[in-house]
Amino acid sequence: MAYEEAIAQLSKLLSEKPDLKGMAGAKIKQITAELEKAAGSKQLDPVERIQTGFVHFKTEKFERHVDLYGKLATGQTPKFMVFACSDSRVCPSHILNFQPGEAFVVRNVANMVPSCNKTHYSSVGAAVEYAVLRLRVENIVVMGHSRCGGIKGLMSIPDDGGRDGDDEFVESWVKICAPAKAKVKSAHSDLSFAEQCKVLEKEAVNVSLGNLLTYPFVREAVANNTLSLQGGYYDFVNGSFQFWHFDFNTAPKLYAS
Ligand SMILES: [Zn+2]
Repeated sequence: MAYEEAIAQLSKLLSEKPDLKGMAGAKIKQITAELEKAAGSKQLDPVERIQTGFVHFKTEKFERHVDLYGKLATGQTPKFMVFACSDSRVCPSHILNFQPGEAFVVRNVANMVPSCNKTHYSSVGAAVEYAVLRLRVENIVVMGHSRCGGIKGLMSIPDDGGRDGDDEFVESWVKICAPAKAKVKSAHSDLSFAEQCKVLEKEAVNVSLGNLLTYPFVREAVANNTLSLQGGYYDFVNGSFQFWHFDFNTAPKLYAS
């Protein structure tokens, strides 16, 4: 769909909505505000939230660490590339205390790395290529996490491959780690669904680490010992973090805590 067509479709949707414009809309807003005031609550104002957030960052970080930000303005030399889930609870900078300039981060649904494919997954390929060939990162960490919605989605896809809902994009994406799902289902058929999901959250990380080796420049850097691949798992239920080195000679391997 072209941009112009998308705008036309959006206009159509807006015109079909109940008329909340003009006086009626203003009245509803006023009543809502009065009700919130009476209840002592306040609805989130996104513009105010963004402005307040940036002012906090600028006064507490940017203006207090002039040297760091001055240096970063001239370039970046991160040692880490990190793949993390888009989940709002698992920001790697927050969990691992990465400071600006330390980690080159890709976030997507269920922190997956597809195998090398120039047409289908070029955004991931571009990020890995840039990190390895230009920034020369020394470590790539793929970080899974507890109660991952994307992994649950993968685990929920019927075995016949039929669609189970409207999550067409999500299903197509998370199938990247279908080999991990097959492994979990055959090796852990005795576990409950929730337990299988937990094992899959870690096994999927190993599949992603293996997929990294399908990028020729990653293989070369690993063979030259200038790059190492690591798996991580953040459990936000009990507040723990597991970390393991991916050894392509012996993979899959046991987890180290
Ligand atoms: Zn997730």
